Amino acid sequence: MDQLTTDVWVQSGDAGGFPTVSAVALTPARAFVIDTLMRPQDMDPVLELLAARAGERRTVVVNTHHHWDHVYGNAAFPGLDIVAQSACPRLILQHSTTTDESVPLQPPEGVPLPTITFGDRLTYSDEDETVHLIHTPGHSEDSLVVFLTAARLLFAGDTLEWPLPTFAQRDGKDVWIHTLRQLKQLPVEVIVPSHGPAMGRALIDANERYISGVYEAVAAAKKSGAGRNDLDLPAAAFLDASAAVDDVYEDAHRGNLVWAWDEV
Ligand SMILES: [Zn+2]
Repeated sequence: MDQLTTDVWVQSGDAGGFPTVSAVALTPARAFVIDTLMRPQDMDPVLELLAARAGERRTVVVNTHHHWDHVYGNAAFPGLDIVAQSACPRLILQHSTTTDESVPLQPPEGVPLPTITFGDRLTYSDEDETVHLIHTPGHSEDSLVVFLTAARLLFAGDTLEWPLPTFAQRDGKDVWIHTLRQLKQLPVEVIVPSHGPAMGRALIDANERYISGVYEAVAAAKKSGAGRNDLDLPAAAFLDASAAVDDVYEDAHRGNLVWAWDEV
């Protein structure tokens, strides 16, 4: 795994072209595992790190939301607590019977459901570190972030994403913008999104600009007669010049345009 700070490591995987990370954060009493990637085997490096570094700490596995590239490795942690927002177990079950072809079949080991859930916030207080799990709907109904207050570090799941976020919650725009404004209140210095490099807090503004910009532009285009599949709105128009958009994210952007067209 790649070491990000003294107590934080990230493990990278590839989810159908999307670079995706799972992370481990050690606090004095606990080892937090944030997301479990696409298969239980993807968690082997995480299990090795825990064996080498976690000592007596209690392992807490967190699912930032129900999407397959965040929970399909859950079976790597039998008997351990898996924590998620309260909508997450129902959404994992719904996804297990979906006909949506973009959702891969579950691994043969199955996907154990979260065992501990919460509504708005769950806090773990250790001597030198307080960890808040905060419900941040917008990308999905059950999205959460993990905020380490002393480290000023935020694991964002898919609530924040680089170079651009992907829309997955119906009528989620307003709630997502509200979530982003709440995140700006947190004294965060480093953000680790599930997709994209570790970044500064400018990522929050960049995602807010993208989301509001896309919905506004799509609403204007629809009003002037543009059809669902002929929206000529390149991603670059909604992004900073520093954001390089590869084919995978051009596709994600086109998906976002269609998604927004259905909602505005
Ligand atoms: Zn997601």
